[in-house]
Amino acid sequence: MTQAVVLFGSPGSGKGTQASLLKNCLQVPHISTGDMLREHIRDGNALGVRVAATMQAGTLVRDEVVNQLVEERLAEPDAQAGFILDGYPRTREQAEHLIGYLDARGIRELVIHLIVDYNVIVTRLTGRRQCPRCGTLYNIVSNPPRVEGVCDLDGQALVIRDDDREVVIRRRLAEYDSQSRPLIEFFREKGRRLFEIDAGSQAPEALSVQVCRIIKSPELGFTPAMPAGKG
Ligand code: ADP
Repeated sequence: MTQAVVLFGSPGSGKGTQASLLKNCLQVPHISTGDMLREHIRDGNALGVRVAATMQAGTLVRDEVVNQLVEERLAEPDAQAGFILDGYPRTREQAEHLIGYLDARGIRELVIHLIVDYNVIVTRLTGRRQCPRCGTLYNIVSNPPRVEGVCDLDGQALVIRDDDREVVIRRRLAEYDSQSRPLIEFFREKGRRLFEIDAGSQAPEALSVQVCRIIKSPELGFTPAMPAGKG
C-alpha cells in the first residue's frame, strides 16, 4: 500500500507546516518542490541557476522542470511506501502528469485542500521567517521562536525568504488564483479523492490531528496498490 498524500492550498495555507507535522502520522517522506528548488539554488548548480530568477519573482518554474524533479524523487527507495507532496501539482499540466504517473502504478492519492481566508494568508506570509539551515518556519505573530530572530533548533539567525517580500507575495497569490486554484475543479472532474478542510482557524498541531484522522479513516483510507504494469 502506497500512502500518497497531496497537500494542496494557497501559498501560506500551511502546507509545509502540516507536511512536517504529518510525519508523526505517516512515516513517509515530505516532498516539497519549493524546498527542492531552493536546495538547487543553494548548491549553485545549473538547475538552481536556471530557476533562481523565476522563484525570486514569485512566478512558477516550468512544468517540465518540476515534473522531472518530482518523478526522480518519487523513484527513490524511501518514497516507495508513500509520500506527502507539498507544493505540487500547481498547474493543470503538472496535475495531469502526476495523475498519469500514479495511475500507471496503481497508486490512489488523497488530495487535502487546506482552505484559509485571504487576509489570514497575507498576514501569515508577511510575518514568515525561516531558518536558512534547517528550514524550520516561524511566524512573528502566530508562531514566534523562543528568542526573537533565532531558530529554536539550531540557533541560526532567521531570514525572510526572498519571495516573502510583499510585492512578490502578491504575485505568488495571483499565480495561485490563475493556475493552481482551478485544479480543485479538475480533481473533482477526474474523480480524484479530494478532502477540503478549514485550515485557518486552529493551531497547526490541532489541524494536523484532524488531517491525520482523515488520512487514517476507513472510508478515505488508502487501499492496497494494484500491481504496476511491470510487476
Ligand atoms: P509557497 O507555497 O508558500 O509559495 P513554495 O516553497 O511551495 O512556497 O514555492 C516557492 C516557489 O517555488 C514558487 O513561487 C515557485 O516559483 C516555485 N515552485 C514550487 N513548486 C512549484 C511547482 N510545483 N511548479 C512551479 N513552480 C514551483
